[in-house]
Amino acid sequence: MLKDPSAILTLILVIVSAGFILETVLDFLNIKSRKKDIPSEVSSFYDHARYEQSLKYNREVTKFGLLTGTVGFIATFLMLMFGGFGLIDQYIRQFVQSELWIPVAFFGVIFIASDILTLPFQYYRTFVIEEKFGFNRSSIKTFFLDKIKGYLLGALIGIPILLLLIFLIGRMGPDFWWIFWIVAALFILFINAFYTTLIVPLFNKLTPLEDGELKTAIESYSRNVGFPIQNIYVIDGSKRSSKSNAFFSGLGKRKKVVLYDTLIQNHTTAELVAVLAHEIGHYKRNHIIKGFILSIAQTGLMLFIMSRVIFNESFSVALGANSYGIHLNLLTFTLLYSPISTVLGIISNLISRKHEFQADEFASVTFKPEAMKNALKKLSVDNLSNLYPHPAYVFVNYSHPPLLTRIAAIDQAAVRRH
Ligand SMILES: [Zn+2]
Repeated sequence: MLKDPSAILTLILVIVSAGFILETVLDFLNIKSRKKDIPSEVSSFYDHARYEQSLKYNREVTKFGLLTGTVGFIATFLMLMFGGFGLIDQYIRQFVQSELWIPVAFFGVIFIASDILTLPFQYYRTFVIEEKFGFNRSSIKTFFLDKIKGYLLGALIGIPILLLLIFLIGRMGPDFWWIFWIVAALFILFINAFYTTLIVPLFNKLTPLEDGELKTAIESYSRNVGFPIQNIYVIDGSKRSSKSNAFFSGLGKRKKVVLYDTLIQNHTTAELVAVLAHEIGHYKRNHIIKGFILSIAQTGLMLFIMSRVIFNESFSVALGANSYGIHLNLLTFTLLYSPISTVLGIISNLISRKHEFQADEFASVTFKPEAMKNALKKLSVDNLSNLYPHPAYVFVNYSHPPLLTRIAAIDQAAVRRH
């Protein structure tokens, strides 16, 4: 199966085009599904001007996404049509001879080229669109420093992983998949355990939450639900954006709660405890463990399928190369696998949205439904979230249910309990 390079190339072009069409259709549906009236659930949080702004913001972001998506699609399509990846391979082979390092150079060149192509778009998004709607707090210096740090971190993590994969494929043949799977699983756990300790501090400052009303309230709530928290941190999210968030990270004793400074500024103590209760709900309902199992299972599936097809020499020829190269085959595989990963992404989102409802309910039962609802409403208004996303768009892309659905679910659950 799939021995003819031109058939493989045709299949890839169809897949890439179908993916682009799907995204574009969903974006259009989303723009069309907006409504002019302010929903009664959030009417006390929105004045007319601000609601008007949220419509404009979502429209502009979607249109901009369409533009960047189109440019990316055209670039990929042309590269595939004209054997551009084969040319990059030939070019690199003039300078690099090691079979281990050719793939590193190959993916490095592709990564840097695509980043240069998208840089003007990233810049415009931050300093024009976000700026216009009052979200941007980032300076040009921070923007470029982030880029440099991102590059270094990407190289530090990405290069050893790629080298190991290439090495195992060369050494073990199709058996590479389960050894690499074990390594990948350990890596996923490691990153999660040390994310706030090792990675976040490279980009942000974390400070322990000061003693006071909020800390006392959080500690007493978490003790009540049998989930004592020692590490509560505030992150300077305001360095980049006025948008707010909160997250939990780490495992076992290392776990930390991280609250954005912007979140603390705009919410009452009760609302902040509700946000925290929601996060604890994820732990208590075992969502964290389920999330790990799901992502490790997905990685295993992908590696297994990869091990069955990755030695097909036609994969390299399909991209315009003269001969077999494992890096070219990896790229072909990634492109051919993308429909499967889209389907898996939809399933993950489905599960994630279910978990969000459960965490909201946990917060409502163990704390206060009103506080949970108000926190969600404020978050949505402050971030100018889309209140009427199209159901098809939500189905494919949303890891969290839209605001009005969450509010309705909290109310229904309250009725069920009484
Ligand atoms: Zn959640």
